[in-house]
Order: sequence, then C-alpha cells, then structure tokens
Amino acid sequence: MKTYGFSNSSTHPYHEFHRAGFILVSPWRIIENGYIRVKNGKIVELGRYRPKCAFPVDVSGDGDVQHNGAGSVKDYGSGVIIPALVNAHTHFELSALRSRIPFNLGFNGWVRELLVQRERCGKELLEREACKAMDESAATGTAFVGDISTLGITRDILTNRASGMPGHGNLDSWETDESKLDILNKRPWRHYRHNRRDESRFKTACYRDFHIKQQTELSGIFFQEYLGNEIPINVLKPFDFYSQSFINRRAFSLAGHAPHTTSPGLLRALKKQTLKHNLPFSIHLAESHDETEFITKGRGRWASFLEERGVDFSDWPLQSGSPVKYLDDIGVLDRDTLAVHLLNSDETDLDLIAKRNAIPVVCPRSNMNLHGKLPDLPLMLSYAQGILKPALGTDSLASTQSLNMFDEMAFVAKHYPQIRPSEILAMATVNGAQALGYGDVAGTLEVGKDARFIYIPLKHFNISNNKSGRKCQNRTLGYSHKGSDIENIIMEIITYHES
Ligand SMILES: [Zn+2]
Repeated sequence: MKTYGFSNSSTHPYHEFHRAGFILVSPWRIIENGYIRVKNGKIVELGRYRPKCAFPVDVSGDGDVQHNGAGSVKDYGSGVIIPALVNAHTHFELSALRSRIPFNLGFNGWVRELLVQRERCGKELLEREACKAMDESAATGTAFVGDISTLGITRDILTNRASGMPGHGNLDSWETDESKLDILNKRPWRHYRHNRRDESRFKTACYRDFHIKQQTELSGIFFQEYLGNEIPINVLKPFDFYSQSFINRRAFSLAGHAPHTTSPGLLRALKKQTLKHNLPFSIHLAESHDETEFITKGRGRWASFLEERGVDFSDWPLQSGSPVKYLDDIGVLDRDTLAVHLLNSDETDLDLIAKRNAIPVVCPRSNMNLHGKLPDLPLMLSYAQGILKPALGTDSLASTQSLNMFDEMAFVAKHYPQIRPSEILAMATVNGAQALGYGDVAGTLEVGKDARFIYIPLKHFNISNNKSGRKCQNRTLGYSHKGSDIENIIMEIITYHES
C-alpha cells in the first residue's frame, strides 16, 4: 500500500482535485471529507467534498487519477492529507557516517571521531550517501530542508543535478515538460529581488533540473558553513550560487558553525552577507557543556582542543554570561538567525532569543544521543502568543538514527507527553517553513500556497466511525486525556511511522 504520496500536480495547466477522508489544513484546522483544488501547482480552493455537484470526473477510489480534459480527481482514501514536512536542520554531507561513531564518547570525543571518520570516507562516499539521504528524506515526506554543508558537498550535488549531469536520479523516470519552466516566476525567498540577467542564464539549468524525478527533489535553504578564525575571501563575495535560488524554491545561504568554533569576526562577516541578501543565517548554539564552559570561563576542555588545533582565540570576547548572550554581544542574534539546539539555555537566554525574534530549532534525538538530555521545549512553547515558534530538525546521521521527520516527531511525542500533538506537528511544518523563510508558500495547505502535501492512512479515524456529525473543522480544543478529534488524528499522524 502506498503510504506517502507527494502531489505530483505542480505543473498541470488544468485543475486537479485531491480528495481524502480528512484534509489537515494546518495543525489547528481540519476538514472532514475534504478536497483540495490545485492549478499550476498552487492550491486554489479547499472544502467539503460533494461528489455530485462540484467535480468534472467521478472518483475512482483506488488512488488513480482520471482526466477528462478539464480536470482530474485523485481520491487517496479515508486517511488524511497533510502539508509536506520541513526538516529545519540536517547535514546531508555527514550521511556516510551513519552508525560509524558511537554516541557515548562525550561531545569532545564525538567531534574528534567525526573529523577522523569524515576524512576516512573520502568525497565519493560522502557524496553518494548524501544523495541517498536526500532521496530518503523526500521519500519519507520531507519537502523542505535547512541543510548545513561544511565541505560544499551538497552544493556540488545540487549543482551537478541542475547542470543536467545524471546525478543519482532514475534515468527512466526523466520526463520533459516545457510548462515546468513557469517555476521561474515563483519567488523562492520572501525578499528575493528578481534579476532578469540571472533568469536567462539559469533558464536552461532550471529546465534540466526538472527532468529529475520528483521524489529526488528537495527545496529549502542550503547553508555553506564556516568555522575557525580566517575569513575566506569567497565569504565576502556575492554568492556564486545565489542565482540558483530560482530553481525549485532553493536558496543558498551561509552558516557559522558555533560560537565556540567560529571567530566573532568571521561570524559577523557571514551575518553581514546573509543580512544583505535577506537570507536566514544558521548557527549551532548552546549545545554542549564544553561550549558553555569555554564561552563563560574562557578555558576548559574546548580551549585545549582549539589550542591543539592552532586556533588563536585570544581576542574573542569570552567570559560572557552564556553562549546566547555572547552571540548577542557580538551582534549576530536577530530575526533571521536560526539558533540550533539551545540545549543549555535558561529562561534568561530564551528571553533574549524572544526579544531578538531569533528562531529556535531543536533536534531532540541528536541531543539525547550525544548529551543525554533534552531541550526545554515546554518552556519555549510557554512564551505568550507563540513568540517562540521552535522548528524541528533531525541533525545529521552522525548523531541520529534517521532523517525521517516522523521518527523525530514520534520521539518528541514520547518524551514530552505534556506537549500537544498539534504543537509537535507545527514544529515540523508551519514553524519550519517560517524558519526557513518559506512561510508564505509552504507549511500549511492554505489557498495560494504550493500544493505540496503527503497522504497518510489512518487506522483509528475515518468518516464512518465519526458519523455522529461532529465536525472537526476550525477546532482549537485543548488536548486532554480524552483528546479532541483533531489532536487524536494528529497523534496518529505523528506516530504513524512507529505503528
Ligand atoms: Zn547540526
């Protein structure tokens, strides 16, 4: 049985109707027996399904699409259509390290082993496994990623794919469709400034890119990460790959590794560039005890590690109150900063994150594996009016078991029973989309957004056992032991992979 299914409708010039037992518009709104009408890859209408009046073609019931020239209906079944998922933090280029590094070495030991193993793998293996991981992510319902690359491997893969090299897609499934060029008119980033010269230059690349089968496609922000003291010359130049932002809602940006690995000068230079281009900036923050000790005391195990590697930190403004405070001191914390982890952050830190409108990104499985503890998600979520909207990420296969966002959500549900299922799903959809700057096109299934969604069968919920006429629409009921319909449905969604 087909479990996940992306809408494959993005380029059909005619209308398409997608029908299912439930349409989860957002984590707070569900339509029972609903449909989504799609045109040119955009959602143009949602509503309750009434087969006899609204549709040009009857429903086949087996998931097949039927065409009659004017439109088509795809009936997925009695389950639920939800927005495609967003993995706000991962590192595809570390995928070859899956199961190679024990999690119990301590953070310092883990970092040392990672450097050794990464070197041992070699570029070819790193590339091959990164490709596989991208495909796996897409196949498990993720459409948008915040990917971090230090070696530039992901960028190479995407560039090769875009330039028409075979990459790792299935050649048999390549197709041609001139109408796919209309993606050029779609803005990948909310502030992106359209540039005609770039458009003509990349038209060919874009066209070729779309030959690759949809399952291998991921959108999102691909961050080139830097660390150390030196400011590389290309950090100060306009991004080489910036123009590729036209392709399939992808943009390239910059990331600093962390406050304890990257000099303040380099962090400021990176931030200056991303600010200039209105792109998000990503940084690991307040992740380990070693980091906190180094930032607050200016000495300890991490200081020795840096000295060993010849990194001079004598002019870094250390002995700050905390890693979050330090980042603010050097002027790098703002509304476009993705603060990844926040594992060792207290209320004062979170107040500062909230005050600067920075965006928390959490990777709980990775934290538990490497540090044996979890971020204070309930505290983050307790901020009034959702001032903090944490996004969810898996981190890399060097520190977690899979890049499957369903695994990450199920883990959160298990370890934070006090958090409502809707809030967990929000972290993996709408919050993630907003964090990466795609909030106006992804994260929910609202009219005007991209039609990128997945279908999940439901075991315990279907329309026939909900004949009492209770409607789930527009409910924002609290999650109790009894649970509301929508919270129960979402709980089944987020634990779907485990069941
Ligand atoms: Zn990471």
